[in-house]
Amino acid sequence: MTERMLKFVDVEQQTPELRAAERRRRDFDEIYQGFDDSAAVEQSSRCSQCGIPFCQVHCPVYNNIPDWLMLTTQGRLEEAYEISSATNNMPEICGRICPQDRLCEGNCVIEQSGHGTVTIGSIEKYITDTAWQKGWIKPVKPLVELDRSVGIIGAGPAGLTAAEQLRRKGYQVRIYDRHDRMGGLLVYGIPNFKLEKDVVQRRIEHLERSGIVFHRNFEIGRDASLQDIRDRHEAVLIATGVYKARDIKAPGAGLDNIAPALDYLIASNRKGLGDRVPAFDDGDLDAKGKRIVVIGGGDTAMDCVRTAARQGAASVTCLYRRDRENMPGSRSEVQYAMDEGVDFQFLAAPEAFLGDDAVTGVRAIRIHLGVPDASGRQTPEPIEGSNFTIEADLVIKALGFDPDDLPTLFGASELAVTRWGTVKIDRETKMTSLDGVFAAGDIVRGASLVVWAIRDGRDAAEAIHEHVSASLAPVEALAAE
Ligand SMILES: Cc1cc2nc3c(=O)[nH]c(=O)nc-3n(C[C@H](O)[C@H](O)[C@H](O)COP(=O)(O)OP(=O)(O)OC[C@H]3O[C@@H](n4cnc5c(N)ncnc54)[C@H](O)[C@@H]3O)c2cc1C
Ligand code: SF4
Repeated sequence: MTERMLKFVDVEQQTPELRAAERRRRDFDEIYQGFDDSAAVEQSSRCSQCGIPFCQVHCPVYNNIPDWLMLTTQGRLEEAYEISSATNNMPEICGRICPQDRLCEGNCVIEQSGHGTVTIGSIEKYITDTAWQKGWIKPVKPLVELDRSVGIIGAGPAGLTAAEQLRRKGYQVRIYDRHDRMGGLLVYGIPNFKLEKDVVQRRIEHLERSGIVFHRNFEIGRDASLQDIRDRHEAVLIATGVYKARDIKAPGAGLDNIAPALDYLIASNRKGLGDRVPAFDDGDLDAKGKRIVVIGGGDTAMDCVRTAARQGAASVTCLYRRDRENMPGSRSEVQYAMDEGVDFQFLAAPEAFLGDDAVTGVRAIRIHLGVPDASGRQTPEPIEGSNFTIEADLVIKALGFDPDDLPTLFGASELAVTRWGTVKIDRETKMTSLDGVFAAGDIVRGASLVVWAIRDGRDAAEAIHEHVSASLAPVEALAAE
């Protein structure tokens, strides 16, 4: 038995709290500090190969986890990689940032029986990082080159995945994105300490070497209309994500130094990438030495508090109107933030922002959770007279995102949207109300997860192929299968 395993057995005899803390430390170390062959074998050999693989059932891309765990145990990493990449276009990214506690690992039978999950995410990351290192990941070389093209709007995980799947079948694929760097929220949303930017860049270069063409700094609605893109391609995929920040209506909300979460995170990510970022360099969006208040309780809020802690903030407070059990994001992210010294004010909501020109504090009120509303969630109700003030030099609003008004932005009033503004698609064909125009990712689901965007991108690619291949010669259609 290895030293590491002995440690694990010891921990099993400790209190639940100590056990949970040890498990968190181990998960964190494995994902972010490194992992080696022996640790991968040790973890994967803990899989009980149960009859119904609940981990697989709860993985949005239905990864064949038990098989690649068994191959890892046997030291057959290349085959493990083949299996893991057959269902997932970005396994090393999902391994790093999926909320595994809500998906595969949370449903692991060993976890359910109280012995601590097999750390599936860190093994998935390890297998794929090894595949990159050893050169097992090769550019896509389709069996046939088709003279049919697909235009994809948005280079986030949904668009990139669909592009790779379509390229495998031989389509000519062009991706249009308004940003200078490709990757969507993988580059400009998720912080570097969770997902290193060179890991995303490696994927983009792989897709470019596979023959996918990127049109950078190209915004649909500014540089072309949706119809222009439709005219250039046999099919179009809309994968533009959701970016309209939800706002707070409260006195003082217009004061200086109150910033939307994405402005703050983009500035930090750009700085990390070596860009000149005036809003960061002049101090406005740099948390160093400041008292930071983040409003919200989702994953974006956790990314903001953890970024602020790393920038050297004097204090970081998270204000959330519900309790810890009702937080929408990953439980481990909240725990990591607590471990990093973030002060959580649960059951508290902002009432007013204080200050003359720039914000100096947030007046908040304590909340009681009342009767459940139509969605089943308890309604937050302010407790009269319970106000308190938190001093602040920078307030970050992280209350979630809504879709932009695409029909107007794209000059396509016939593009049907739901009452929430997300793009409507047919469940079977994945097509929007416009012939030959498909949609995938957050713009269809609302703000969601990378792994769901990957799943949607794969489904959309299949649907596009079905639509376009109807007009292919039989021999071409066969080769593209
Ligand atoms: C701060 C933050 C942290 C997150 N952390 C996690 C996490 O840890 N784990 C996880 O699983 N998920 C996380 N998510 C969610 C995840 O990032 C998204 O669900 C996922 O990126 C959605 O993929 P997408 O391809 O649909 O859209 P996006 O990633 O948003 O990509 C959309 C792309 O479309 C482009 N675009 C938009 N409009 C236009 C236009 N008009 N013309 C041209 N291009 C356009 C954008 O520039 C962008 O590149 C996080 C989200 C945020 C905001
Ligand atoms: S893709 Fe995500 S949910 Fe699926 S096995 Fe990997 S880490 Fe788990």
